[in-house]
Amino acid sequence: MLVDAILLIQDVQLLCFTVVFGVLAAQRWSDRTRRWLWYTFVANAIGAAIDLLGARLPVWLTHGVGPEMIPLSYAVFNVALVCFDRRPRTASIISALILVAGFPFLLAWSGAPLQVRSNALGDLLIALESIVTIVLLLGHHERYTKAPRLLMAGFFVIFAGVEFARPWVAFVMGGDPDVTTPRLAMACSIIYVVNVSLLPLGFIWMMQARSEWDLMQQSIIDPLTAVLNRRGLEQALERELARYRRYHQELTLAILDLDHFKSVNDRYGHPAGDAILRGLADFLRKRLRRTDVLGRLGGEEFVLLFPYTDIGRSASLMEELCNNLRTCPDLLPGTDVCITASFGVTSTRERQELDGGDLLREADVALYEAKQNGRDRVCYFKAPGWIGRDVLTRSEDSSEPGSIINR
Ligand code: GH3
Ligand code: MG
Ligand code: MG
Repeated sequence: MLVDAILLIQDVQLLCFTVVFGVLAAQRWSDRTRRWLWYTFVANAIGAAIDLLGARLPVWLTHGVGPEMIPLSYAVFNVALVCFDRRPRTASIISALILVAGFPFLLAWSGAPLQVRSNALGDLLIALESIVTIVLLLGHHERYTKAPRLLMAGFFVIFAGVEFARPWVAFVMGGDPDVTTPRLAMACSIIYVVNVSLLPLGFIWMMQARSEWDLMQQSIIDPLTAVLNRRGLEQALERELARYRRYHQELTLAILDLDHFKSVNDRYGHPAGDAILRGLADFLRKRLRRTDVLGRLGGEEFVLLFPYTDIGRSASLMEELCNNLRTCPDLLPGTDVCITASFGVTSTRERQELDGGDLLREADVALYEAKQNGRDRVCYFKAPGWIGRDVLTRSEDSSEPGSIINR
């Protein structure tokens, strides 16, 4: 009686989710994940319809296809996961093979005396599909979807345990799980109901966590060059400055501005200019360390952050970048376009009361000086108190606060 009530609740839940996921899929039909999630519930609904129509349908449908519908819905759930994680189709194929392997046995055990075996085989197929689900959920290491993945995988472990127990009772102990082990039957019913709520909600949680992360990324990434945009840079600068204040390890900041970029656009066209900016971002990304930060301040200006690096040690890299650009790396494939850049560099230099805006302003002053002195060069900002103890030995010294040292 109680089990029947639980099964009824489960059917109502399934019907509701079929409608909800149907609407979700219809809203964005091109999204394969949403479509396959909906098919999960469609498979369940078809199974329920076959059960209802029962006697009026051919045996292969009621005893072959019908019992496959619930395992099929778990296999389809796996396909939705494969789409969501953009994985190769191996797991989908394994899920399909599990169903194909079970089908002839379900047909063979279709008579009433063998019904227990047929049901137990259905449970075994679900348990095997659940193992595939667990592997899919835990095999994808995505920080922002970790919580829903762990929740669903944890649940699937319990679920698979119960689903293995039923065929064990039927095949090994020779009993009917619904009769000889009533507690197991009750546990199964409760777990099914939890399952029907938890899986769709867990999946929606994952989808929501993914789109939140995507939006967050879009808000800090420059769409043209795929490096940090101004907002991302400001966040990174604040983070690195906090690290500097904590560990007192110098942070160096450089602004790079392409020389006469307007005339490059005029000559080669704006799309070519865009391609050069992308090429430059790649060129810089390849040369920098993973711990360095690269961002586009705007237009043809890029910012480079070098944590744990004093301004003297950054000098050789600055020179190298400047020289390498001059030797025309392949920024715009298929052309001989050559472009130089000017660099303005500054660093924290034991100044605790410094903010990101101060550093950017200092680098900008140095950059301005580089432009004034003929472009295609690196200039260093010279802050008060730096004299006599810096490493810019090639520079002409100046005791004026805020003045510039040229290379
Ligand atoms: P300077 O050596 O003094 O820096 O000269 P410049 O021409 O590089 O500097 P200016 O500030 O006069 O012009 C910057 C140019 O950068 C203007 C604009 O055409 C170009 N630019 C800015 N953003 C983009 C972009 O996203 N794509 C392209 N293709 N060009 C851009
Ligand atoms: Mg420029
Ligand atoms: Mg500029």
